[in-house]
Amino acid sequence: MTTNRDYYDILGLQREASEEEIKKAYRQMALKYHPDRNQNDKRAEEKFKEATEAYEVLKDPQKRQIYDQYGHAGLQGARGAGGFGFESFDISDALRAFMRDFGGFGGSFDEVFGFGGRTSRRGRRVYRGEDLRLSLSVTLEEIAEGVEKSLKVKINDRCPECGGTGAAEGTNKTTCPQCSGSGEVRHVARSLFGQVVNVAACGYCGGTGETIPSPCRKCKGDGRGQVEKSIKVKIPGGVMDGNYITLQGAGNAGPKGGPHGDLVVFIHEVEHDLFERHGDDLLIQVPISMSQAVLGATVSVPTLDGSVDLKIPAGTQSGKLFRVRNSGIKHLRSQGKGDQIVRVHVWTPTKLDRQAKELFARLSELETVSAPKPSKSFLDKLKESLGV
Ligand SMILES: [Zn+2]
Ligand SMILES: [Zn+2]
Repeated sequence: MTTNRDYYDILGLQREASEEEIKKAYRQMALKYHPDRNQNDKRAEEKFKEATEAYEVLKDPQKRQIYDQYGHAGLQGARGAGGFGFESFDISDALRAFMRDFGGFGGSFDEVFGFGGRTSRRGRRVYRGEDLRLSLSVTLEEIAEGVEKSLKVKINDRCPECGGTGAAEGTNKTTCPQCSGSGEVRHVARSLFGQVVNVAACGYCGGTGETIPSPCRKCKGDGRGQVEKSIKVKIPGGVMDGNYITLQGAGNAGPKGGPHGDLVVFIHEVEHDLFERHGDDLLIQVPISMSQAVLGATVSVPTLDGSVDLKIPAGTQSGKLFRVRNSGIKHLRSQGKGDQIVRVHVWTPTKLDRQAKELFARLSELETVSAPKPSKSFLDKLKESLGV
């Protein structure tokens, strides 16, 4: 479940809030509603989750920009394409997100909360790999119907030599002698409030609880190596420039066998030579001759999917809009497609031979071909005939 409330409202922020203000507001709310402080309180849990979701978006300049521009819809995007954003953002995602930014791998949970004397329930740490982001150029033709693309990405994957453990072949990791495998060290301190136990990550093993006596010679114990991978990504029809698709687990592997981060693919819509996109509709300008405009004609109009014949009625004004139904872009979130709008432009010839000049001169003497004088009513009539 994902929230429908405005992210700024949730955190009590103005839309122009700085990154620092966002962070501060979220931290305050997260600490107040954290499930550890509100045992069995569903309402607090919901608030914590909602605040975290808001923070996850607003702290990320790119996500924030998409949200500012398109609202929740921009972030939800294509279902079934690996999922954008937050369709399945649950309390464990929220807790993980909070731990990542405020629990820090170096710091301690209790430090964050500012109180001690309780035992951390984190234990051994597992380091998740980094998320990767990349921009994918997609043509209007591809966006119109949706497309599956193959991407080549360089990622840090599990080291093929040691399978990600970081230990040399035939050797094993051993329990960290410093923390006895718990991944934590405790410092007992006295304070005004009595004895305080601070729990922090073990510095010797980095909190993993394990050490590697003989590191793998290929990855030197890190458990990772760079590889080029080919990844298929399904782009649904109707995506917009700036939309993104998250491929979960397709990012960098974590060190020493840690889980993979995500790969976030941002859509870059390549500008089209002929068409201008307006939502799911496409606009094209088509020049027609004066005689076609006067007498009417059938003209061939390009669409993204071949040409169609368009009937121009006699007496068509320059600028008139015609609609070719269902020749636009697939709707992202519903059935059907947009339309193609054709704006005809009556072309005034600039190079006339003698015969043409004579004919125009004779035409100009006829009263039925002369233009009306400028007036309000003429403008209204023109608007009416253009369909605006
Ligand atoms: Zn290795
Ligand atoms: Zn240790």
